[in-house]
Amino acid sequence: MGTYVVTGSASGMGRQAAEKLRAAGHKVIGIDINDAEIRADLSTQDGRRSAAEAALGACGGVLDGAVLAAGLGPIPGRSRLIAQVNYFGVVDLLTALRSAFASAGCAKVVVVASNSTTTTPMVPRRAVRSLLAGDVDKALGAVRIFGNRSAAMSYAASKIAVSRWVRRHAVAPEWAGAGIRLNALAPGAIMTPLLAEQLDNPGEAKAIKAFPVPVGGYGDAAQIADWMVFMLSDAAEFLCGSVIFVDGGSDAYFRSESWPAAVPFRGLPRYLLRFLSYARSRRALGRT
Ligand code: NAD
Repeated sequence: MGTYVVTGSASGMGRQAAEKLRAAGHKVIGIDINDAEIRADLSTQDGRRSAAEAALGACGGVLDGAVLAAGLGPIPGRSRLIAQVNYFGVVDLLTALRSAFASAGCAKVVVVASNSTTTTPMVPRRAVRSLLAGDVDKALGAVRIFGNRSAAMSYAASKIAVSRWVRRHAVAPEWAGAGIRLNALAPGAIMTPLLAEQLDNPGEAKAIKAFPVPVGGYGDAAQIADWMVFMLSDAAEFLCGSVIFVDGGSDAYFRSESWPAAVPFRGLPRYLLRFLSYARSRRALGRT
């Protein structure tokens, strides 16, 4: 049986994932601002540091995996908190826990992203770039111009940035090469306290209800947790750097022609550079 960290374990999808892992006999180290084995505020650097230290102590330096589900929804007035928890609350924690994942030899990590990454129009690239560069103030500066839509922009930017971080790191020698499988899950609207809070606001409820979901209705948190548990299992050994959309078809509805896409002519130089750098790193490792 394994040992797993689950953030956001007090509610919604994180709670369901923690319950399913425990029911399967695994040890779960829950991290949440409320009701959890480790209570920590992931919006602050100190909170993230103390959460990581406590988790490393509780697992004895070896972790079989993690689910990063702590997060905030796009509620107006929370732009800064959203960026801090949804982006830094994931990447700082994963960076601090990486050595424990590597010690397990075949760890699996699931980061909860969102289909807002591909279905929110006009998310400023500067906000995404700034988060990836670690500059939250600059990211907030880029979303502020959207006025009462700035929380939605901060939310989508935080989820795009965290998805990119996952894809960049998943394939690096320190992650893939250390046997760690790092992937993201992008849910659509799932019935949890986070969604219920948005539905309590009449303006937001109208927008959520009008949003195209080809299969109709809302997703179920327990079903999403089944996907998470599957992505932590041996069956996911060949899954690396993927963003799995479980969203009732909204992403496909809006973006059916965008992906998969061939590398365009202007993308060839970067593609070839990646190819060469892979060949070089294999030679350095003595692999044929
Ligand atoms: P939820 O509100 O039920 O659970 C989120 C958990 O995160 C809570 O237990 C909360 O206490 C914890 N949390 C919030 N701020 C924290 C902080 N500063 N420090 C530590 N813990 C903190 O929400 P959920 O719907 O289960 O969301 C889980 C994840 O899924 C989030 O990252 C969310 O952005 C994402 N998501 C949700 C939906 C949806 O429709 N519910 C859709 C797409 C993505």
